[in-house]
This record gives sequence, C-alpha cells and structure tokens, in this order.
Amino acid sequence: MAADGIWQTIRHIIPSFTALLAKRARGCLICGNRCDSKQPGQFGALCESCYRAIPWITRVYCPVCGRPERCPDCVRRRQAAFIANRSAVHYDAAIREWLALYKYRGHQALEPLLGDMLIIAFRGLKAQLSRHNHNSVPQYFEAVVPVPVSESRLLERGFNQAERLAARLAASEELPLWDVLRRTRHSDKQSLKTRGARLRDTLHLFAADVAEMTHLLQSMIQQRPSTVAPVSCRLFLVDDIYTTGSTANACAETLLIAMKQAAPAVPIEIYCVTLARS
Ligand SMILES: [Zn+2]
Ligand SMILES: [Zn+2]
Repeated sequence: MAADGIWQTIRHIIPSFTALLAKRARGCLICGNRCDSKQPGQFGALCESCYRAIPWITRVYCPVCGRPERCPDCVRRRQAAFIANRSAVHYDAAIREWLALYKYRGHQALEPLLGDMLIIAFRGLKAQLSRHNHNSVPQYFEAVVPVPVSESRLLERGFNQAERLAARLAASEELPLWDVLRRTRHSDKQSLKTRGARLRDTLHLFAADVAEMTHLLQSMIQQRPSTVAPVSCRLFLVDDIYTTGSTANACAETLLIAMKQAAPAVPIEIYCVTLARS
C-alpha cells in the first residue's frame, strides 16, 4: 500500500518535472537564448532582453495616424478617409528584423506574438473610442478588414501577413473578418518611393467586393435584435506597417465608396490598426 502510494507520487512528479525541464530549456523565439520569461501570453516566448527591446508606442502625438512625434503627413493630407490609425510599436531595427523573419524567412512561429502586439494596439484604440462616446452610443457593427497584397506577392510569399494578423485579431476580439478588398495591380515597394510617387501609385490600387460586403452586412443586420437603435458600421483596417498612410487611405476610400453602394443608409467609420509605425 505504502509502496503503491510512493509509486503514485513519483508517477505524478515525473511528467511535471519533465514539463518544467522542457519549459526551462526552451529558446527565445528571436535570439534562441535561454528563455524563462515571466511575461504573459505570447510574450513568454521571448527572453527578457528581447521582450525589453519591444519599442511600444506609449504616447500619441498625432491623433490621426498615432505617430509619437510631430506629423507632416497628416498636416498635408487634406482629409483622410479613415478616422485614426493606431500602431503597437515603432518600426525600429528590431521590429524590422522580426517582421523580416516572419515575412521572408519563414519564421511562422512569430505570428502569435505579432498578433498579440496588434491586439494590444486594437484594445488601446477601442478604449479611446469608448472614452469618447460614452453618451448616446449608437450601435456599431464592427468588422476587421485586412489590407490585401497583390497576387504576385501572395505567390512569392505564400501568405498575406495582414490577413493572418487580422484573422488573429478577429478571433481574439470575436469580430467578423471581412476579406473584401483586392489589390488591382502590383506596386513596387512603397518604402523605396518618394511621398508624391507613393500617392500617385495608390490611386485606384484597390477594389472592393461590393456584393460580398452587401451580403456580410445583411447577415449582420439580420442577427441583431429588432429593438436596438440606429446602426453604424465600424471597420478596422489591418496592416503590418504604417508609413505615410497612403495605403491605409487608399483602402479606406475604396471601402467608403463600396459601402455607399452596399448600404447607402448606414453611416460608416473606418479606423486603421497596424503593428508598426515607421
Ligand atoms: Zn531573445
Ligand atoms: Zn499624423
């Protein structure tokens, strides 16, 4: 009986001890160094030094694009089609490297971590929105819309990072994912161009699937209880990097035009949530 008891105890201890060893021996997702981080969620996959390297944006200077310093782009843009952008982090050398690992070097294991960073930016934006409309809150239909990549880039990379991150955000926040935008042609790397060239380049770069939007919106309207007040639609555009806002703006303009066709009576607000702000 006593021997049985000891054996039972050992059988319980061995697996948890092995699990503990496995946990301790784990390497950091970024640098591979030993990782026994106490950070919550996906951030526990980083060693303390990589975790501390995350350049969080904690103060917003430009209310439109969420830039942490004075912003010439939003001053020059007469009117943005989106209301505001919020990014989780600065696009510094570390984040450039992390995104390159994920996008070009097949480190798919980084996706949950990048997704969690995007979710933090989204929750910050939502907290601000709820502080601003505490009175007479209209009912919002909310959906997440990924910024599309071109067919050729999709073929070369095998996935659209914006779509993957948007799907994580949608799942975590229980929002529908509206994959309704298409890129009509391939454009060269935006970051290598002048601002003027970027703006010309994004003209008619995107198209929206109006039939799909109408269908998605109707199914949202049907699900809502019949007693509630007027409805607005709030769309959250998702991309990995925000540079001048020309891509976000072109997507938002396309969505506004398409929503006018799909549901002319429904007011629409477009926000943008991005992982990094360059
Ligand atoms: Zn590390
Ligand atoms: Zn700005």
